Formats: sequence, C-alpha cells, structure tokens
Amino acid sequence: MKSAPFDYVLARTVTEATATLAQDRRNAMVIAGGQSLVPMLNLRMALPDLLVDIGRLDELKATSATQEALQLGALVTHADIEDGAVPDPFGGLLRKIAGGISYRTVRHYGTIGGSVALADPAADWPVVLLALGAAARIASPAGSRSQSVDDFIKGQYATSLAPEEIIVGFDIPIPGARMRWGTSKVVRKSGAFASSIAVVVEQGDGDFAAAALGAAGPRPCLLPTTAQGLRSRAPQEDLRAMVADDLTALALDGDPYLTRLHTSTIMRAVREMRQR
Ligand SMILES: Cc1cc2nc3c(=O)[nH]c(=O)nc-3n(C[C@H](O)[C@H](O)[C@H](O)COP(=O)(O)OP(=O)(O)OC[C@H]3O[C@@H](n4cnc5c(N)ncnc54)[C@H](O)[C@@H]3O)c2cc1C
Repeated sequence: MKSAPFDYVLARTVTEATATLAQDRRNAMVIAGGQSLVPMLNLRMALPDLLVDIGRLDELKATSATQEALQLGALVTHADIEDGAVPDPFGGLLRKIAGGISYRTVRHYGTIGGSVALADPAADWPVVLLALGAAARIASPAGSRSQSVDDFIKGQYATSLAPEEIIVGFDIPIPGARMRWGTSKVVRKSGAFASSIAVVVEQGDGDFAAAALGAAGPRPCLLPTTAQGLRSRAPQEDLRAMVADDLTALALDGDPYLTRLHTSTIMRAVREMRQR
C-alpha cells in the first residue's frame, strides 16, 4: 500500500518548522529519519495533510558536553552514537544501546528525537534516558521549554508534545562520581523491538542509583524500590524481592511468563553492573 497524498514542507530553521506547524490548521506531522513514520504512512496508520521535514536542520544535529550535562540534538542518529561520532561520557552505555537497535539501515536514519517523540513502549532510548534522568528540550513559536523524559512520555505513543512543538534535543546529566551501568534486552528475533529491556545505573558509593524498564506496560518506567535496593547495596536475593515489588506495581496481570521475563532482564542488568 502507498501513503495517502499529503503536502510537504522542507523546514530551513526550527523557527520555520514550528511556525508552519502552528499556522497550518490541518493535521500536520513532523518527519525526521522517517524510520517509523514512513511505514505508518504507507500502511495509512498515519494520515497527515502536511509533512514538515526537519531532517536537514543542522541546528538539531549539534551536540556539546559540559562538566554537568551532555546535550544531544534531536537529529543525532543511532549510528552517530554507535560510531562514537558524539561524546559518550557514560562509559559506553550510549554506544552499547545504539548498536543494539534494529539493523544498521534503521540506525543510519533513525534519530533519538524521533524515538522519544514516538514513545513506543518497547523503544530503547526512552528507557536509557529515564535511567539517566534526562530532560527533553522542546521548541514552539512561543519559545522553548524543558521537561524530564519521565514526565514527557505520557503513555503508549503518547507524549506531552503540543501540535506546534518539536523536540530540539536532550540534556543528560553527567555523573560527578564514578558511574557503573548494566543493560539487558530480550528480543524475539534479531533486529526486533524488545520484549523486555532494563537499564540500571549507579554512581559513587550509593550516592545515586536508578533502574528503568521498557516493554512492560504502556510506557517505560522507573523502578523505585529496585533503585533503593541498589543504593543500599542489597544482596542479589533481597534485590530480587524488591524487583518483585516494583513489578507488582506494574500490574502485569500476574502473568508468570512476563514476571519472569522482566525479572531476569533487570537482574541480568544488575549483575552486569556489579561486575564492572
Ligand atoms: C524495522 C525497525 C525496527 C526497529 N527497531 C527498534 C528497536 O529495536 N528499538 C528502538 O528503540 N527503535 C526501533 N525502531 C525505531 C527507530 O529506531 C527510530 O528511532 C524511530 O523509527 C523514530 O526515529 P525517526 O527519526 O525515524 O522518526 P520518524 O519516523 O521520522 O518519526 C517518528 C515520530 O516521531 C515524530 N518526530 C520525529 N522527530 C521529532 C522531533 N524532533 N520532534 C517532534 N516529533 C518528532 C514524528 O512526527 C513521528 O510521529 C525500529 C524501526 C524499524 C523500522
């Protein structure tokens, strides 16, 4: 099947992109790498009257790092991160995640901004950005705002983005102390979205710890009891009970397979982190 007809605007600046979205009263959509949107157009699951292409905006490709934060532009691709073309002050965490997303073609075109804007519950970046406490920078004709990724993602394919807003980038806090991390992802076949994905991080001597899980509900989530166990250096068996508490709160309908699946990805990520 081919897409329904739509108008197309190639934006030359962020200001032009957001102004076009604000002025156009029809059903306008932004396109970045097109890796999710183009199939949705062809399947007619998305029926925009207007596509605003932000894919050539160099201002959305910029990255910078200060002592406090890494700023990644929304158009940074998974391949940019996998190839080390942007800094990874998190000891290789970003590179590992990027290299595990789908196939190289998807990674070549797919962007971090598109991944978070889409808010697929099984996508990789939202889980990592949650664990790292990142915030999204968002532009509109009225100015810009910043919102934690945790608050930005509202549910399955649902975010706080208004129709005239675009994500311009992400601010990811850089840990002051030594950071350790672990990840685990289960996929049903190579290149597929995760059936379960867990990311855990800790800094210093129990100063900070976070655990995040994806594909376990309508949106990725933080696991507060597990994080508390990581901070207090709970032994593996105690931690497993804490993971069980967090999973109970997720209401997996008592499904023993899902409970076991998510428990193993979280515990594997913890093991990887503790071995670092
Ligand atoms: C076969 C296949 C397998 C995949 N497997 C995985 C996987 O395992 N893990 C994973 O994480 N991802 C996976 N993806 C998704 C891919 O990684 C892309 O990140 C994702 O498609 C979105 O990025 P994009 O730049 O292509 O966005 P697009 O497809 O261009 O847009 C996606 C959505 O985001 C909106 N959007 C895009 N950029 C912005 C912005 N800056 N501001 C506001 N809205 C915006 C668009 O309007 C659209 O609604 C897979 C995709 C495919 C095709």
